[in-house]
Amino acid sequence: MVTIILHCPYCGSERLVKYGITPNGKQPYRCRACGRQHRAHPGSNAYSETARETILRAYQERSSLRGLTRTFGVSRNTVSAWLKKKALS
Ligand SMILES: [Zn+2]
Repeated sequence: MVTIILHCPYCGSERLVKYGITPNGKQPYRCRACGRQHRAHPGSNAYSETARETILRAYQERSSLRGLTRTFGVSRNTVSAWLKKKALS
């Protein structure tokens, strides 16, 4: 059996509690340290934080969405959404 220690993606705390279940069968967690909710296992179509950073960095270097989609197989819509999010934050 494999024990996965989950960390809160926002504050890094391990004090996560299961928090109901989403309509699509995912198990959300709530962090007891900062009170934010997140899903422990994002869908297979979601990119990890690391992958996203890598792709966004590549975008800043080459400034070509089309090249990115070819290199990483990521959809242009996804990258656009990340860029919009990044611009807001
Ligand atoms: Zn937290």
